[in-house]
Amino acid sequence: MDENAENHLGAIQIDTFRRALLDWYGEHQRDLPWRRTRDPYAVWVSEIMLQQTRVDQALPYYERFMDRFPTVEHLGKAPLEDVLKAWEGMGYYARARNLHRAARRVVVEYGGRIPEDPARISDLAGIGPYTAAAISSIAFGRDCPVVDGNVVRVLSRLFHLTGNPATSAARKKIDGLAGRLLARGRAGDFNQAMMELGATICTPRQPRCGACPVNPFCEARKTLPDPSVLPRKRPRAQRPHLHVAAAIVQRDDEVLIVRRPTDGLLGGLWEFPGGTVVKQVERETFLSEEMKNTLGIDVRVDHAVATLRHAFTHFEMTLQGYSCSYVEGVACHRDGNVCRWVPFEDLGRFAFPRAYRRLIEAAARLREGRQPDGFA
Ligand code: SF4
Repeated sequence: MDENAENHLGAIQIDTFRRALLDWYGEHQRDLPWRRTRDPYAVWVSEIMLQQTRVDQALPYYERFMDRFPTVEHLGKAPLEDVLKAWEGMGYYARARNLHRAARRVVVEYGGRIPEDPARISDLAGIGPYTAAAISSIAFGRDCPVVDGNVVRVLSRLFHLTGNPATSAARKKIDGLAGRLLARGRAGDFNQAMMELGATICTPRQPRCGACPVNPFCEARKTLPDPSVLPRKRPRAQRPHLHVAAAIVQRDDEVLIVRRPTDGLLGGLWEFPGGTVVKQVERETFLSEEMKNTLGIDVRVDHAVATLRHAFTHFEMTLQGYSCSYVEGVACHRDGNVCRWVPFEDLGRFAFPRAYRRLIEAAARLREGRQPDGFA
């Protein structure tokens, strides 16, 4: 059917399609805080948060973030540490680092006004064509089609597109269809309506075709027993599994934490020292050698705290935390990463990846004499 998609588009009444979609959106859209404003900064923050986070998960983060950094100036002038702390738990921290970097640039180069030109918007850190089109259409009313994962799914089904949308040929076709369907003059509403349809009706599994406002136009519904087979998905590659050991090194009432380099995975976040266990070695032996070689300190490994599993996009991790006692030496990281001794009670002030935050909770329970829940 791919080759006939254009014909199908020509045959449907595009105006009727747009009206049905926009009327439905006007009546059924979810009341979300970023939809109550056209402030480009608010739209930008929400779009970045929603890239890899579900709406219900992002909502409390968005509200706290906007309270803490209500304007692009507030964000651009804040220390990265504060921004990462506000993002803590949402994952994909490159989004926060890029948002912060781009906000600084908006303050310095554009006097705190987000540029209207989509080319200038997409030149900012972390803003790809999708986010630039979303900001341009929603905040500035520009006629730019937005194609996110929801829109890819809706269009694949509406037009019975059988190509893999990860390929450039299939993607080009989808972008072209999005552009032709776009309700010019109401691009912001139209784009949000398409995304809302994908998020609430035309969902990945079990689309609710009976409740779909554009079901008379849908080729997949007409021709397939189950439209959810579209879009065609790539088979998921097996993710590697890493075993990481972490030392909660205690010296009197303080514990040692290390900040990850700013660039790269979980950049700028804090963690307990340790590393990936590559050989079949005892975790205790590995950790005491790692502390000596990486930080120049001697420790005694006392007992296990928790074993936690965590999934990242490209790999899975088993994190084993151990309580250790400081023996001697001055902590200085071999690669220059910042190290700090901080009171255990103050760990909440620092931004940690989610797995390490769970480890801290398990350690806190142990300190209170309770059994941690985190043994996996
Ligand atoms: S009819 Fe069903 S498959 Fe087609 S767009 Fe609507 S929800 Fe999606």
